[in-house]
Amino acid sequence: MAGEPQDDCLFCKIVAGRIPATVVRETDTTLAFRDINPQAPTHVLVIPKAHHKDAAALAAAAPDVAADVLRETQAVAEEEKLDSYRIVFNTGSGAGQTVWHAHAHVLGGRGLQWPPG
Ligand code: AMP
Ligand code: ZN
Repeated sequence: MAGEPQDDCLFCKIVAGRIPATVVRETDTTLAFRDINPQAPTHVLVIPKAHHKDAAALAAAAPDVAADVLRETQAVAEEEKLDSYRIVFNTGSGAGQTVWHAHAHVLGGRGLQWPPG
C-alpha cells in the first residue's frame, strides 16, 4: 500500500534505524541525511519517511508531504550556508534513479553546470 514501509527498501531501513546514516535534519514526515557517495561538497538527501517510489508518486499520494520535502531542502541549504544549490529528483532508471524511495538530492558548495549530464 502507498506509504507503507517496504522490507526491501534501503531508505525505509534508514528511517527505521536499521541502517546507519548521517542525519542532518528530521521532522515528523521527513529525514535528511548525507549521501554516502557525495557528488558535491554538500550532498544531502531529503526523503519522506513514508515509502513512495518516486517524486511523482509522492506528489500524487501525499502532496502535503511532498511540500514538506521541498521545505526541508531549503532548510538544509540554509543550514549548509548554500547561496546557490540544485535540487534533483532522479525519476526512472534512465535518469539515474537507483533507490526506489522518493528522495531529493540537495547539491551545492561548488559551481554546478547547466545543462546537467
Ligand atoms: P538515485 O541514484 O537518484 O536513486 O540516488 C540514490 C542515492 O543514494 C545515491 O546518490 C547514493 O549514493 C545514495 N545512497 C545509497 N546508499 C546510501 C546510504 N546507505 N546512505 C546514504 N546515501 C546512500
Ligand atoms: Zn522505502
